[in-house]
Amino acid sequence: MRAFHCSTCGQLLFFDNVVCLACGTDVGFDPMNRELVAFDPATHRRCENQHVARCNWLLAVGDEATLCPSCRLTVLRPNDANPHHLAAFADAEAAKRQLLDQLAGLGLPIQAGDHSPATDPHPRGSETGPRLAFEMKVSDYERVIIGYQEGTITLDLAESDDAHRERVRQSLGEPYRTVLGHLRHEIGHFYWWLLVEGTGFHHRFRALFGDETVDYQSSLDQHYGWEVGGAWDWRHDHVSAYAASHPWEDWAETFAHYLHIRSGLETARQYGLAVGEPSAAAGGSIDVSGRPPAVQDLIRQWLSMTFALNAMSRAMGQNDLYPFILTGSVVDKLGFVHEVITTASPSRSSAG
Ligand SMILES: [Zn+2]
Ligand SMILES: [Zn+2]
Repeated sequence: MRAFHCSTCGQLLFFDNVVCLACGTDVGFDPMNRELVAFDPATHRRCENQHVARCNWLLAVGDEATLCPSCRLTVLRPNDANPHHLAAFADAEAAKRQLLDQLAGLGLPIQAGDHSPATDPHPRGSETGPRLAFEMKVSDYERVIIGYQEGTITLDLAESDDAHRERVRQSLGEPYRTVLGHLRHEIGHFYWWLLVEGTGFHHRFRALFGDETVDYQSSLDQHYGWEVGGAWDWRHDHVSAYAASHPWEDWAETFAHYLHIRSGLETARQYGLAVGEPSAAAGGSIDVSGRPPAVQDLIRQWLSMTFALNAMSRAMGQNDLYPFILTGSVVDKLGFVHEVITTASPSRSSAG
């Protein structure tokens, strides 16, 4: 999470703030400049979803849209009759805004054709494909499958409920299960289509993740069979058990994990959090030599940070903040995601 400061009094402010609690200045997030600013009705309007989605994003006064760029992407939401569902909807929208801001920070296009053909090495850039959209459904009424299909990401708002999500997490044996994590995973499928499929990266994708043309359903069936049998260990080559189910899921899980890492490192930098002698602690766990320098830096910084943060969690009597183990092949896959993302970004952003 990024740190912001009140332009009136200097108080630390957060991404979701609508008012400075120290001095009372109304604030809002300007998505074009990615800044939290004092709200000035002469230059900005608030998004029409400010109450229903607790949205603090601003539009320029001249903008004809009533919804901000984030809220506009949601094509389906619960009706106004159920306050419980609306609260879950607002939580999911908050996670979605965080996702979209991170994507903007990484310089990733959120629609095909968004980036200029001049800087775009991929044929997708000039193609009109599926529009990115979000459906916020509630599994109280219907069977909801969290997933991605042709540009549309579907979330189950029941997952905003901590107790429900924890039950599902335990039944699937996942170390982490968050709404933000779902979003980071599902958007990975979108970027596979946008940045990998049919591009110069497709060949290397198959070499690293496997042939995605194998039958999807039988792979998933086999995966759950393995899970039950427990004969095969996914940990050697995959960041999660689910990643082992199919090359597409492996990519999406790795992509989500990459976004976790970048967000964690950005947060550390924003708050001036630094861990001394990083490689001494991290070096023993995994050898990252031989990878591109940017990937080595990223993984070394991240592992040393997570060693310290896990120790901090344990000091508080909590479970590890970062309960993952990165192996050499997982690092190679993360490195590939890094390369795909930095190639797509017009600023060619480097690690950190
Ligand atoms: Zn203030
Ligand atoms: Zn909005």
